[in-house]
Amino acid sequence: MNLKIETKNGFNDHAKDRSQVEVGQDAKSRARKADLLETPMREGAFDLSDAEKMLQIEDKFRDIMDILGLDLTDDSLKDTPKRVAKMFVQEIFSGLNPENKPAVSLFDNKYEYRQMLVERDIKLHSFCEHHFLPIYGKAHIGYFANGKVIGLSKLNRIVEYFSRRPQVQERLTMQIAAELKRVLKTNDVAVYIDAYHMCVQARGVQHESSSTVTSDFSGKFLEENTRREFLQAIKGS
Ligand SMILES: [Zn+2]
Repeated sequence: MNLKIETKNGFNDHAKDRSQVEVGQDAKSRARKADLLETPMREGAFDLSDAEKMLQIEDKFRDIMDILGLDLTDDSLKDTPKRVAKMFVQEIFSGLNPENKPAVSLFDNKYEYRQMLVERDIKLHSFCEHHFLPIYGKAHIGYFANGKVIGLSKLNRIVEYFSRRPQVQERLTMQIAAELKRVLKTNDVAVYIDAYHMCVQARGVQHESSSTVTSDFSGKFLEENTRREFLQAIKGS
């Protein structure tokens, strides 16, 4: 596997100091890769039900708003803690719960299509785990079918599932690639993400035009010609 991170048109405080990271194949780096791949979760992460989590988050978020000095009796603000709690648990962070992982149906590759398949412009909405601000952009996926093909919308679902977590873009890229390799039973997978980070645009350096590109190429995509064909296919999107 080969993970590359680059930043276009400026810098991003996530990619700073490692504008180009290459993960090799030796045992040490494989172990490090496994660590990088998992979203850090504490023990007992799912001891509470979703309903209990929402009640507790609502309570804590009300405290945050109150500390900021907001008037929680105001009509417009009074239900915000409840809305935020529901949004965290049921929507934007629902991908933390493995129960929400999309079931994937595979079909026989009866046409014996052996060429590269590219699904491009998959919309991506995630949240940076350092600031809890949006990351948004596009994901592009390529693979070579190994006997089975996947329903195309399932590619989007896999991207969505891993995006619905507090994330760093590097890990998000790797998690999507690992899941695709697992379900497609092939190593010939490419994932390319080009995304904007609100924590870079709206605060800190305020570089509005900076986007961050991460990619994960394995198997046939490590060959220069194949990789070029894939990059050509997603170009201009
Ligand atoms: Zn951030």
